[in-house]
Amino acid sequence: MKIYVVGERNIELEKLNKQRNEIFYVTLLEGILRSFCGKGRIIYSKEKNGILEFCQKLLKTPYLFGEISNILEFENHYSRIKKYEIPVLMYHQFVENKKDGGKIKLFVTKKQFELHLRILKFFRYETITFEDLDRIGLQNRFYKKYIILTVDDGYKDNYEILYPLLKKYKMKAVIFLVSGLNYNKWTIESSNEKRFDLMNDNEVLELLESGTVEFGGHTLTHLSFLDAEEEKAKYEIEEDKKITENRLNKILKVFAYPYGHRKEETKDMVKESGYLFAVSTDTGSGIITEDLFDIRRTAIDKTSLFDFIRKISPGYLQYKAKKYKNKKRNNI
Ligand SMILES: [Zn+2]
Repeated sequence: MKIYVVGERNIELEKLNKQRNEIFYVTLLEGILRSFCGKGRIIYSKEKNGILEFCQKLLKTPYLFGEISNILEFENHYSRIKKYEIPVLMYHQFVENKKDGGKIKLFVTKKQFELHLRILKFFRYETITFEDLDRIGLQNRFYKKYIILTVDDGYKDNYEILYPLLKKYKMKAVIFLVSGLNYNKWTIESSNEKRFDLMNDNEVLELLESGTVEFGGHTLTHLSFLDAEEEKAKYEIEEDKKITENRLNKILKVFAYPYGHRKEETKDMVKESGYLFAVSTDTGSGIITEDLFDIRRTAIDKTSLFDFIRKISPGYLQYKAKKYKNKKRNNI
């Protein structure tokens, strides 16, 4: 992304952007001509400029104005204007045949998932984890075509079906473990679901050592934060983190709210327990850096192939955020 700055030098922006070498100081006319020739380049001016605003409407040239104090803020503008963000997908279970799945149908078949991975390869997506994202730097997240695959609950089929396919296609995923249970007690109780085992310690460790999976927290018992007492919620977050960290001998960086349910104070609890990111389901703006503790995800279970292709487009999360503004659904 090239940034054409019209007007005075922005010292702060320049300092932070030193190694990227992307800022060009131009006159108003030059900025318009250049961005017209190279679609998608951003023109920035400190003061609002009517001509540039008009160009944005007419030529669809991304135009920003106002105080910019850091690159990250700049990238958020970029993300919003271009309607572009790293897609974050949400899976649960993987089955050989549809009849093996539960009645809630939170699964994809092995065949479907393999096709998903092949589609991601075809579109040249690179799968990353939240750990990777932290290392890459949020301000650098638009430099490659990244995508994050997340998987909730830690079912045994993750080891049996997901893991071999990740290895085969050299891809990565983030799995959120329910640390206080070894089967799906919560869906059996709420929906009379079939029993499914969760992964055991050996399986979890093998996945971790393979380098294909990052693990995250998902509470002790798959608690819904909507009707939980504060103390109970805190305990479920902190104790879960401790147990999984001991199990892996590794610090966890990312958390997933069970059912996507959270209250405002839940976010603070997760933040205070030391996580760097938290993913939700139907909340969040669709721009990762606007709220690192409310990262919106797209559910992939029960998705047709056509919908899958639509859902992996980098604009989908923001589209969804706008269309279904913080709509609450009972995703598990
Ligand atoms: Zn879950």
